Amino acid sequence: MAKEERDRAKEKAKEMIKKYFSVCPLCGQDLIEGRCNNYHDLSLIDIDDILASQNSETSSKDSVVLSQLITDQGAIIAQLKVGLRRKKRSFEQGTVFLVTDDEIEGQRWLGDPFESVKFEDLGQVLTEDQLAAKEIERAKIRYQESLKYAQRQVEEGVWRLGSFVKSKNPKTGEEQWELTTQSKGLVIKYVVNRWSRQPTAPNLKYYFQIGKSLVDTKSFKLFLVDLQEPFPEDKLEESLTSTNKVKQEQVEELV
Ligand SMILES: [Zn+2]
Repeated sequence: MAKEERDRAKEKAKEMIKKYFSVCPLCGQDLIEGRCNNYHDLSLIDIDDILASQNSETSSKDSVVLSQLITDQGAIIAQLKVGLRRKKRSFEQGTVFLVTDDEIEGQRWLGDPFESVKFEDLGQVLTEDQLAAKEIERAKIRYQESLKYAQRQVEEGVWRLGSFVKSKNPKTGEEQWELTTQSKGLVIKYVVNRWSRQPTAPNLKYYFQIGKSLVDTKSFKLFLVDLQEPFPEDKLEESLTSTNKVKQEQVEELV
């Protein structure tokens, strides 16, 4: 009787494994013998989040659990994992593989009969929206970092901060962005180098570095300047798409 029950449980477990672990969650291909040997892009998964949610003492850092099948008694029948490192063949980075029995992290199933199973998708495969959100988050961090750097450059007098107006080069008639300051009879004009990224609006403040001096007299100085990061239009309050649009326009202007 007990043996029969255990055999039945074993059959049921096999069926459930087949049902829940037939397709690779990272690429959608069929798992072959519980494996997908494609080298998946690990940025599809929030590894840090997974490691934080799994017991770091029992979980090997060579791999993380993507999903698992648990009996109604809390015993783990199978786990689908993704490799993080190249240490062992079975843990190759980015490959997906199924583990059972003593390879399981945590309380493994010992063959006891069960009523039902629970499929726990640990939800680490990020959706496109989540990936986009993550990318925006990273862009915000990059912006903040370059802002800090730029502010320090201004404090140290290496860079300046100012708004430019669109004007025309008096000799060539070409459009140019310039900033003019005037004090005690000295006029200083800063012209954005044509090879530099250009301002997009007169009301925006840009960091810039002073380059070549073109005119240097007692009453008038003219410098070429290069705009520096971060650019005000890159401040990510809006969606990424609008930033891409700005970049697109920049490219077109340069061409
Ligand atoms: Zn795959």
